[in-house]
Amino acid sequence: LLNAQGVPQPTIFAEMTALAMRTDSANLGQGFPDADGPAWVREAAVEAIRAGANQYPPGRGVAELRQAIAAHQQRHYGITVDPDHEVLVTAGATEALAAAITALAGPDDEVVTIEPFYDAHAAAIALAGAMHVTVPLTPAAAPANFALDLAALEQAVGERTRIILVNSPHNPTGTVLTGAELAAIAHAAQRVNAIVITDEVYEHLTFGAEHTPIATLPGMPERTLTISSAGKTFSLTGWKIGWVTGPRALIDAVATVKQFLTYSGGAPFQPAIARALDDGAADVAELRESLGARMELLLQGLRDVGLDPVRPGGTYFVCADASPLFAAVAAKTGTPVIDGAAFARALPLVAGVACVPVSAFCRDGSPTAHALANWVRFTFVKDEAVIHTALARLAALV
Ligand code: PMP
Ligand code: GLN
Repeated sequence: LLNAQGVPQPTIFAEMTALAMRTDSANLGQGFPDADGPAWVREAAVEAIRAGANQYPPGRGVAELRQAIAAHQQRHYGITVDPDHEVLVTAGATEALAAAITALAGPDDEVVTIEPFYDAHAAAIALAGAMHVTVPLTPAAAPANFALDLAALEQAVGERTRIILVNSPHNPTGTVLTGAELAAIAHAAQRVNAIVITDEVYEHLTFGAEHTPIATLPGMPERTLTISSAGKTFSLTGWKIGWVTGPRALIDAVATVKQFLTYSGGAPFQPAIARALDDGAADVAELRESLGARMELLLQGLRDVGLDPVRPGGTYFVCADASPLFAAVAAKTGTPVIDGAAFARALPLVAGVACVPVSAFCRDGSPTAHALANWVRFTFVKDEAVIHTALARLAALV
C-alpha cells in the first residue's frame, strides 16, 4: 500500500484517471462504463427513496435482494443457497473481498492468487496480515491466450495455504479460466483443505467463452465463497451493491467482519438491484452484445497500429504488449520508454490516450511482472466515440 519511500499511494486507476482528466485524454484506463445502467432500474432506486428506504438496511441485506441473489444463482448455475443464511449483501465486491479475506486469513496463513491480480486482492491480503503467494497467468504462444501455470499452482498450494483466491473472468487479462484450469484449482484446494474465494464480478460479461463458477465443481460448494456485484452486470458501479454466497459457517464469519466495516449500506439501491436481478435479463444481454462490438472495434484498431492484443473471453479489458509503440512515444518525449508503466504515464501527455500498465497488477520484481513488463490494459467499456478517438490518436502517433 506504500511506495518504496513509505508514502501511501493512490490506486493505479485513480492515478491514470486523474492524468487522463488533466490531459483531456480518451480514458481507456479505469474500467467504468460511460453509459449508466437501465433507466428503469435507476427509477426503481428513486422510487425506493420516495417510499422511505433511507435508513440502515439489515446488516445482511434486505430480504428481497437476498432472495433475488439466491434465485439468480439457482437459475444461472443450479447453485442452491439459503437466502437467510448463505447470502450476504456487501458494499460492492470490494467489501466482500476485504471482509472474506480478513475473516478467514491471518498472519500464519498463505493466500494464493493468480498473477496478475486485481489490486484490491493484494491489498486485502496485506490488510489481513497474511502471506501472498502467486501463480502466473501468462501469455501462451498458440493459440494466443493467457494460460494458468498448473505446475506452479501445484507448488504454490501447500500446508500453509488457507485461501485460493480465483478471479474469472479475469481482470486485467480478460481470461475466462478453462474447465481444466478450474478443475486443477479445485483439486489443489481439496488436497490441502483450503477455502476458495472466487471473484466473479464479470460473470455475465463474456464473449463466446463460457463462464463456469468454481462452486459448481464436485467437492466445491462446501468450501467456496462466490463474490459478485451489480456494478458490472448493470453498469451501476457507483451504487456499490455486491454480494457473497456460500456455506453458512463461512458466510457467518464474513458477516462478522462486514458488520464492523460498513455495517450495511445502499438502502434504496438494494431493492432496485433485486428487481434488476429478477427482470433485467434483456438489459444484460444488450450490454453484453454492445460491449462485444466495442471489444471488436478496439481489437481491430489496436492491430491497425501494430499491436497484437490478446482476444479476451470476458470483462471490460484487452491487454497487449505495447513495445511496438515505445519508439514513437520516446520520439515525442525525448526520453526512452523502458516499460509499460513508463509508456502508460507518457501516453496521455504525447497522444491523449490513457491505459493502465499490467505491471500494476503484479508484484514488484516477480517473474510475471518481468514477463508482462511491456504490457498494458485498455478498457472498451466506453462510448464508441471515445474508442474511435483513442484509436485515431494512436494511429496519428505511429
Ligand atoms: N473485482 C474485480 C476483478 C474488479 O474488476 C472490480 C471492479 N472493477 C471489483 C472486484 C470491484 O467491484 P465493486 O465495484 O463491486 O466493489
Ligand atoms: N475495477 C476497475 C478497473 O479495473 C476500477 C475500479 C477502481 O477504480 N477501484 O479498472
